[in-house]
Amino acid sequence: MRLITPDKFHDECAVFGICGHREAANLTYLGLYALQHRGQEGSGIVSSNGEDFFHEKGMGLVADIYTKPVLKRLPGQMAIGHNRYSTAGESSLKNVQPLIVNFAFGNLALAHNGNLINASMLRSELEAYGAIFQSTTDSEVIIHLIAHSRAETLLARVIDALSQVRGAFSVVLLTDDSLIAARDPYGFRPLSLGHLKDSWIVASETCAFDLIGAEYVREIKPGELVVLNSEGVTSYSPFAKTRSAMCVFEYVYFSRPDSKIFGGKAVYLTRKELGRQLAREAWVDADIVIPVPDSGVPAAMGYAEGSGIPFETGLIRNHYVGRTFIEPEQSIRHFGVKIKLNAIPEVLEGKRVVVVDDSIVRGTTSRKIVKMIRQAGAREIHMRISSPSIVSPCFYGIDTPTRKELIGSSHTIQETRKYITADSLAYLSLDGMLKAAPGAPDHYCTACFTEDYPIPFTKAEEMQLGLFEPSL
Ligand code: AMP
Repeated sequence: MRLITPDKFHDECAVFGICGHREAANLTYLGLYALQHRGQEGSGIVSSNGEDFFHEKGMGLVADIYTKPVLKRLPGQMAIGHNRYSTAGESSLKNVQPLIVNFAFGNLALAHNGNLINASMLRSELEAYGAIFQSTTDSEVIIHLIAHSRAETLLARVIDALSQVRGAFSVVLLTDDSLIAARDPYGFRPLSLGHLKDSWIVASETCAFDLIGAEYVREIKPGELVVLNSEGVTSYSPFAKTRSAMCVFEYVYFSRPDSKIFGGKAVYLTRKELGRQLAREAWVDADIVIPVPDSGVPAAMGYAEGSGIPFETGLIRNHYVGRTFIEPEQSIRHFGVKIKLNAIPEVLEGKRVVVVDDSIVRGTTSRKIVKMIRQAGAREIHMRISSPSIVSPCFYGIDTPTRKELIGSSHTIQETRKYITADSLAYLSLDGMLKAAPGAPDHYCTACFTEDYPIPFTKAEEMQLGLFEPSL
């Protein structure tokens, strides 16, 4: 059995695809630009003119990679693109998607958002049959499964391959004559369908449609596969049906507030409702409510509205710094909060302050923020978190550290409060979060808050994924 450390399973990404537009690559670039928050490590675009595939990729941010000459090298009416973020060790160009191959059925490119929990097992099996892998991403197994399938058509092979992987996939594939997009039966990660003039588009989030002036049509449903080509959109439901388990953390933190995901309204509305619900559950007598920008802003507005305590801006964010969490080195992460945020003493001095953030992961950010606000003269600091305590890693595509590093997995709320040095700390309840999120509560994956993983693990997977760490 091949052992992959749990870190390698953490993979935040964005996918985009467009079919039937003469500026396919340019629009893909813009789509990826809007989706930058889902991955900052590297980005790639593959375009097709119906005969050849053209491929450009690079490390870093979208705006830096795709210069005019680079985009000129991506002709054709179809294109797919991908933004990638993964943790240390795997940050190399060879892992930047789309992955591209040429095989018996012609050209094929793949862009994948999500994580596959049986990728390592499948990879070992494929390697035993002689498969040579070009990257260390779990996504590459999909390509090999397509190549090894005995099914007669390319579409049937794609379905065959995707039926064998377990886990999260919102995937976009480019073939010589069409674009195929699919979402796993649980629907962990979002994927939406858009329309622009004569072209069809798929994207992780609808903010990509807004930037290019495309119209949002609908979400790609959990377990749905669509083929987009000159004939339009053909929809299939080829996978075994199961409960849906859409990632509630997309609402809490990950998606952009202006996006519609999972067929609902703008994420912003849900995030604000999380804050209102938090005020109902964890009201405190205070003078001002301030957000941790940017992630805590909508929830803080909801909290202020719900509690009747005035909303203020007490922390200013430097927008030219990447997300602290995404820095690969622990030392930079600790330092990062100071680089990124600064307090305004004139707002905070002598005040009883409610500080709202969306989540606590390791607790290091909250600790630094509380210290900063205290130094700025606040009299009391009440930390309010618009989601429950994170106790368990995500294996479906959100970058969370190992269980040991999650402060909520080994500390009570009181211990965490002490660690972050706040006067009080309260999290939103699980029920409260699910009440604020649209639709039925049992439609969501809440594994990071509950350890209730929707896909049962085999014993081998449990070991590989580090579910039985000695520290537990
Ligand atoms: P920590 O210092 O580890 O507790 O980080 C908490 C901060 O990280 C909060 O302000 C969150 O908004 C943010 N955060 C939560 N989850 C993630 C994630 N998957 N990637 C990047 N930032 C995150």
